[in-house]
Amino acid sequence: MTIGKPKQLALFGGDPVRGPEKTWPSWPIHDDLERTAVLEVLESGKWFFGERVRRFEREYAAFQDAQHCVSCTSGTTAAEVILQALGIGPGDEVIVPPYTFIATASAVMRRGATPVFVDVDKSWCLDPNLIEQAITPRTRAIMPVHFGGRICDIDRIRALAQRHKLTFIEDACHSWGGKWEGKGTGALGHCGFFSFQYSKNITAGEGGAILTDDPDLAALCRSIVNCGRVEGAPWYHHENLGTNARMTEMAAAILSMQLTRLEEQTLRRECNAAYLNAELGEIEGLTPQPASNRITRRAYHLYCLRIDEERFGCSRKRFIEAANAEGLPIGAGYPIPLYRQPVFAKFSHHDYSACECPVAEDLCARSGMWFAHQLLLAEEEDMRDIVRIIIKIKENVSALREEQ
Ligand SMILES: *Cc1c(COP(=O)(O)O)cnc(C)c1O
Repeated sequence: MTIGKPKQLALFGGDPVRGPEKTWPSWPIHDDLERTAVLEVLESGKWFFGERVRRFEREYAAFQDAQHCVSCTSGTTAAEVILQALGIGPGDEVIVPPYTFIATASAVMRRGATPVFVDVDKSWCLDPNLIEQAITPRTRAIMPVHFGGRICDIDRIRALAQRHKLTFIEDACHSWGGKWEGKGTGALGHCGFFSFQYSKNITAGEGGAILTDDPDLAALCRSIVNCGRVEGAPWYHHENLGTNARMTEMAAAILSMQLTRLEEQTLRRECNAAYLNAELGEIEGLTPQPASNRITRRAYHLYCLRIDEERFGCSRKRFIEAANAEGLPIGAGYPIPLYRQPVFAKFSHHDYSACECPVAEDLCARSGMWFAHQLLLAEEEDMRDIVRIIIKIKENVSALREEQ
């Protein structure tokens, strides 16, 4: 296609594909809906745990096809509450992936239990082939992450959990709106949890939720979130060892408004990502996060891409520098697998020094790259810019070889 000499990379002084006049959608997105909702809460004087929290819980459960939703203050808290409600504690093990946010594993440790890391596969999610060999008599639960919004292999993990009588907990903190064979994430396993922190696809700054189809588990989680109180009992009756992790009315009011945009935004991201997957998948040395035909709606929290440095022709570091200079804010993702964080050596009796998950190590050290979900809310023309940028880098790749 290119006739003559390809245009010089912006990294070396050429014109960028996207100059500073071209901006990406900012996040969070809000308008009069949120403004009115917040003002209503403010002026009603009812700032405390009540009808708006309940309303959001009903709406969110319905949106994710779950029977019950228990809201709370964060995704991290949601994980800790679930693990407490399941009675997971000292001596127990929970299987988690090593390529994830800290909370997936730290929640397990804060219960006095041991996170056991099982590697991810090319989907960036827990490798179902490696789970069985990690199960011991102490294993209580499997807690995969739908990384970037890519739903893990639900069918195989559910079957493994059933066979070994383990609880299947979804860390669905990247998967608002995701559906597996038509059913929403969160209650595909026994239970799941979500985050509404600032960077997430639906947000009130902070916030979290637990979903389940199990009414007893939902009631116990609700009690733990609310100081151990139980439904129907007097205010000063404390049945369970709870905490205060209640969502505020202000947060719930914002989330209800955010939720009205979630479906349209999810579809738009999915459509733009499908275009990128098709185009970038054609470029030698790049692999978008793989699809599955059982994922009937795919949330995108991150757009994840793997680079094979040899086949692409330059290092990941140089690719990212070149892409950033052309106007694409892509980064290398997590720099180390979770088990190399100092917290595990400092606060666990388990020895993680021999822990090795080669796929996660490779994502961190060499191949993993991602950019944030809000870029996928831009126009088709902006997606074409992303493809143009990456083709331009490919065409100039010899200039990026480190040895030169
Ligand atoms: C964000 C996130 C969490 C925790 O959510 P917070 O609301 O930030 O506490 C847990 N797991 C994953 C995978 C996340 O991305």
